[in-house]
Amino acid sequence: MGNQVVVVGGGYAGVMAANRLAGRGDATVVLVNERDYFVERIRLHEVASGVRESCRLSFDEVLHASVRRVTARVASIDAGMSRLLFADRDALAYDYLVYAAGSTARPMPSDSDDEPGMPHLSVSTDEDAARARQAVRNAAPGSAVVVRGAGHTGIELASELRAARPDIHVHLVSRGPVGRSLGAAGGKEAERALTRLGVRIHRGDGAVPAPALVLHTDGFVGASLAAESGLPVNDRGQLEVGADLRVREHPNIVGAGDGCHIGGAQNTHLRMGCASALPQGAHVADVVGALIDGAAPAAHSAGFVAQCVSLGRTRGLIQAVHPDDTPRRIRLRGRPAAVFKELICRQTVRWMRQEARRPGTYRWPAGPAARVNE
Ligand SMILES: Cc1cc2nc3c(=O)[nH]c(=O)nc-3n(C[C@H](O)[C@H](O)[C@H](O)COP(=O)(O)OP(=O)(O)OC[C@H]3O[C@@H](n4cnc5c(N)ncnc54)[C@H](O)[C@@H]3O)c2cc1C
Repeated sequence: MGNQVVVVGGGYAGVMAANRLAGRGDATVVLVNERDYFVERIRLHEVASGVRESCRLSFDEVLHASVRRVTARVASIDAGMSRLLFADRDALAYDYLVYAAGSTARPMPSDSDDEPGMPHLSVSTDEDAARARQAVRNAAPGSAVVVRGAGHTGIELASELRAARPDIHVHLVSRGPVGRSLGAAGGKEAERALTRLGVRIHRGDGAVPAPALVLHTDGFVGASLAAESGLPVNDRGQLEVGADLRVREHPNIVGAGDGCHIGGAQNTHLRMGCASALPQGAHVADVVGALIDGAAPAAHSAGFVAQCVSLGRTRGLIQAVHPDDTPRRIRLRGRPAAVFKELICRQTVRWMRQEARRPGTYRWPAGPAARVNE
């Protein structure tokens, strides 16, 4: 077997994996991504609300110089022949495939379900955020904009909208408690902060009369590529991988990030998020490294330290958590929390850059069950 490693998806997991593998020096690493730039996805609500111009970074800024780049959308993974298929270019063969295709928004309801012509948009991708930004700009003063979903993204988007467009009414519609994963106390605190900012919170279906725009933040699903290629997926379209991040039926395919669901009792706490994607990207590179060396790959283990939520540009909420993501009593709030959140966002890019400069140096917190990364 040769050592051509192809990484599908140039997000947080894919870039981290490619950089770490490039440092080995004995593998050819190819990164396939549909755009020719990196998207700081964790900032897309800033673009959508209008407080930030762009989330694009040149791959030159974050990727190891030896990684070969292919800008194309993969149409299908031919796992039997170990190759990727494209609509408009030749197939690309791999010895090992890292599946890091991330996630997208669930399909949006059609306009005709509500007011004809009223846009339903998401903030999930670079293109989605650009469309949302334009629609927010077009919203007339005094009109209502609805944010659906009161998880982290919904809370952050609603707050940013108040900061960017104080002349519109922002409604946050939540099926369950606001900020559920922050825990009861953290969620209440987020709710109070939103109310102070002027965001109107609705429970259940929360009918808001004649909104100008509905922005959906509830529910991300795995990228469609795995299911379209006939690979095993869960009900959210995520590629099923074992605790060692390998696909059981195709052991030369490994996965990391939002696009994958990891089996194993020690991984049940892992959620879609950049905080999961970076450690998984690093670990998946170590798994491929072990396979190249003929060694047995280790099981993945990663834990969380905090949940970080921005509340507009000047306030935030940092909820300390146990490694299994359950809330602790410690919380940081207000301006210091906003500064901390901004530092974390910058740090995600620094971690990828650091791995490009000195591959193999990225470390992450151990998971609740085992400490395998030390
Ligand atoms: C508005 C917003 C705010 C967020 N805030 C936070 C936060 O504060 N903290 C946090 O932890 N997480 C946050 N997240 C979630 C975080 O962005 C994702 O968990 C993270 O991006 C997942 O990384 P990834 O590498 O798995 O996938 P992605 O970053 O989505 O990258 C996947 C890449 O694969 C490419 N791709 C997909 N299919 C194909 C194909 N067929 N061919 C070629 N390329 C393909 C995509 O274009 C993309 O470039 C936020 C998400 C959003 C939308």
